[in-house]
Amino acid sequence: MESRIAENIEWVRERVAAAAKRAGRDPKEVTLIAVSKTKPVEMLSAAYVVGERQFGENKVQELCAKFPVMPKDTVWHMIGHLQTNKVRQVIDKVALIHSVDNIKLAQVIQSEAEKKGRICNVLLEVNIAEENSKYGLSPSEVEKFAREIAGFDRIRVCGLMTVAPFTENPEENREYFRQMKRLAVDISAKNIDNVSMKVLSMGMTGDYEVAVEEGATMVRIGTGIFGEREYNIKE
Ligand SMILES: *Cc1c(COP(=O)(O)O)cnc(C)c1O
Repeated sequence: MESRIAENIEWVRERVAAAAKRAGRDPKEVTLIAVSKTKPVEMLSAAYVVGERQFGENKVQELCAKFPVMPKDTVWHMIGHLQTNKVRQVIDKVALIHSVDNIKLAQVIQSEAEKKGRICNVLLEVNIAEENSKYGLSPSEVEKFAREIAGFDRIRVCGLMTVAPFTENPEENREYFRQMKRLAVDISAKNIDNVSMKVLSMGMTGDYEVAVEEGATMVRIGTGIFGEREYNIKE
């Protein structure tokens, strides 16, 4: 199992690098986040020993359970929907919260960050295909939201994140990734205080190569590294 994880990481890194080169980009611009949700710490360790340091979790409880077990230089990403009453538990553990999409959540992040004397890095989650089932701001709301959140001095907006539609054919998501890039460029051009658009977190196992070709700076890969997930509890 462990050697399989090492091979998978190697494979994904190569694909990311090739996609970056195809787009005339430096592969170093793209950070690989190993999405370890539902997977045991032994599997995270197997990724760690081959140099992976960035891990993504979508549940606060699971992130908090793995956090003390993994080495101190592990970099944690909160990629799932975050409830306001759980912000306190993750705020001093994660390098980046990918899923900020409402002011209530921003307010709680602001106040918890203040209590802990830190600055919290976040991405604004965009529901780029405007799917009913998904969290995230609709593309037309993002600029207004960025301007509102700019007033929170404990929050640093670093860019945008999206979960593109599930599809068998990654080409179907190319236009969505393009729209994300355009949105980031447009907002960046507005020079909003305290709001940077450097990070574009997009692309998962099924579509990360297309996402990198279209400008992703972070890809979030679960299945492609750790294998299929089994869910015992209904989500
Ligand atoms: C689970 C998850 C991923 C990884 O999905 P895979 O298809 O297994 O690579 C990426 N992003 C988010 C937000 C997720 O919840």
